[in-house]
This record gives sequence, C-alpha cells and structure tokens, in this order.
Amino acid sequence: MKHSYQLIYDKLFDYYGPQNWWPADTPFEMMVGSILVQHTNWRNVDKALTKVKAYLDPERIETLKTDELAQLIRSSGFFNIKAKRIKTYLEWFKTYNYDIERVKMKNKQELRKELLNIKGIGRETADVMLLYAFEQPIFVVDAYARRMFYRLGHDMPKSYDVFRKQVEKELPNKWTLYNEYHALLVEHAKRHCKATPICEGCPLYDICEQRLD
Ligand code: SF4
Repeated sequence: MKHSYQLIYDKLFDYYGPQNWWPADTPFEMMVGSILVQHTNWRNVDKALTKVKAYLDPERIETLKTDELAQLIRSSGFFNIKAKRIKTYLEWFKTYNYDIERVKMKNKQELRKELLNIKGIGRETADVMLLYAFEQPIFVVDAYARRMFYRLGHDMPKSYDVFRKQVEKELPNKWTLYNEYHALLVEHAKRHCKATPICEGCPLYDICEQRLD
C-alpha cells in the first residue's frame, strides 16, 4: 500500500527533527560542495572544502588556475574534471555578477534549464543548487530517495523528472518542506535505511513493505 509523501515526511520530521541543511557556511560553498559531492561521499568533500576554504568566494576562486584548483580539491576524486566543472559553473554565475539575489529572481523552470545547460551539471546537482542555494521548492531525486520509497512500496518511475513530479504533485509548494525532506531522507538512509537496513526502531517501520523482522 502506498502511503502519502506527506505522511512519510511527518514521520521522519517527528523522529529526526529539523536538519538545517545544506551543511555549508555560505550559498557559494554550497554550490561548490554540490559539484564536489558528485560520485563520492561527504567525508571526501569535507576534506576538499577545508583545503579550498580560503578561496570559497567567486572572485577568489576565479584567481586560481584550473590545475591549482584541481590540486586543492584532490580528495574529492575526479578532481581534474570537477575543477573544470567548477570553472565552467563560475562562468555562468558571473553572468549574474555573482549575485545570488539576482539568480533567485529568475523563474524556477528557466533557472533549472540554465543550470542543466552548464556542462557537468546534471539533474541532481541542478536541483540541490535550486533548493539549497537559490531557495526554490523542488524535490531532489537521489539514490537514497529511490531506495527508501521502493522499500516503502511506492511505484518508482525510472525517469528522474517523472519521479520528481510525482512527489511534487502531492506536496505543498513550500521551500522549507523540500529543504527538510531531502535532508531527512539522507539522514534516514544513513541511520536506518542503509543498503542493509537497520529496521529496529525505524520511524517508518509500521508502514514499510520491506521491513525486516
Ligand atoms: S523499516 Fe527498514 S527497510 Fe523499511 S524504511 Fe525502515 S529501515 Fe528502511
């Protein structure tokens, strides 16, 4: 039986509380972090962010050559590719004079299209930026969300956008809710709904089709 996305959210929120995401000091750090986290885990990103910390400002990072940036973010893996991606992203951001407020004024769908046109920015990266840097209400589809909703018994469309719209159709268009939802899913995937789940004490136990007894 399919349970509503709102009910799942409520249960997770009651259990884990507010997550106050994204883990970054500034929106720009968030944007860089969202590129660094591609194909790696947060521990490696954290190390890279510490090394590049002194340059976590668009004007300062612009002064670095691509290979210098690559060395600083080495621990995040695929560092040459990621350095190029950050530089390409920066070129786009510069068209807004590095002004987040100007970007936020843009219509969500148009902004999403622009982000997806940047080389190396896929749907998941674009959507976390829309959500956590530009404060747009959007549901992020990631491997954790897919795993969890599958276990709960939901239909899982293969298409990223079909799945995203399926969730968004049911939920209120509130940025704060989407902000918490993604963070709560990540927390739940780390604490209980792991590859091998720890079902004992899980806040979704009573509504889960694949719970382990
Ligand atoms: S009961 Fe187990 S499988 Fe179901 S959501 Fe919880 S941890 Fe995941």
